[in-house]
Amino acid sequence: MNAPLLSVRDLSLWYGRAQALFGLVFDVMPGEVLVLAGRNGAGKTSTLRAIMGLVPRVSGEIVYAGRPIRGMAPHAIARLGVGYVPEDRRIFTELTVAENLEAGRKPAPVGSPIRPWTIERIHTLFPKLAELSDRPGGALSGGEQQMLTLARTLMGNPQLLLLDEPSEGLAPLVVERIAETVRELKREGLTILLSEQNARFTEAVADRVLWLERGVLQNLIDNDTTDKNEKNR
Ligand code: ATP
Repeated sequence: MNAPLLSVRDLSLWYGRAQALFGLVFDVMPGEVLVLAGRNGAGKTSTLRAIMGLVPRVSGEIVYAGRPIRGMAPHAIARLGVGYVPEDRRIFTELTVAENLEAGRKPAPVGSPIRPWTIERIHTLFPKLAELSDRPGGALSGGEQQMLTLARTLMGNPQLLLLDEPSEGLAPLVVERIAETVRELKREGLTILLSEQNARFTEAVADRVLWLERGVLQNLIDNDTTDKNEKNR
């Protein structure tokens, strides 16, 4: 069996005196799509932000590609090959789509198995972004901005992609397109940890699902997902 790409052990997190995560333990295996599911406020965003080094009060162990990363700065974690797409779609609204993509360009970490992303490959994955190249980011629809945020993160050549609620606030057709993109990225060899509340989206992309409730991982086993897992092995 392969070693996990990401290993989380006893992860707890506090905002001031309020504890938001309680001793999470999970692994993300290379090449899988793992979905962190749970209601609003369950702690999904906090988990992703903790992995990315964006929350100061965290305890436990976070190991990426065999290397402890807890306490490292977000840009250093990104440089190791972790890409983070936050829920609030941070694009540069004044820059064009093409300029946004250039702004995301970073060399692939040494030894990364991922084929480096080029503007041409991004355009193949997101033909719509090719059409919109000269438009300012701020003029894009919600779904287009979500694609641009994801595409810009890919230009940083991550091996592990953290996606925070990629379907949120988007029309069903756009959600289906994003699910297809996630499956395509998995075929490219990326490992993906994403948070999601949309059951249909989860069903469409997940190899495994973890259920988070009030900051605690539940040991519920989703039979559908288990069956799907068995088929995928
Ligand atoms: P959502 O779907 O709303 O993003 P979530 O599952 O991602 O929910 P989190 O955003 O991680 O959940 O929130 C987990 C808990 O931590 C909630 O009780 C929330 O109120 C609290 N929390 C999140 N961010 C902060 C913050 N910056 N300061 C204080 N409390 C916070």
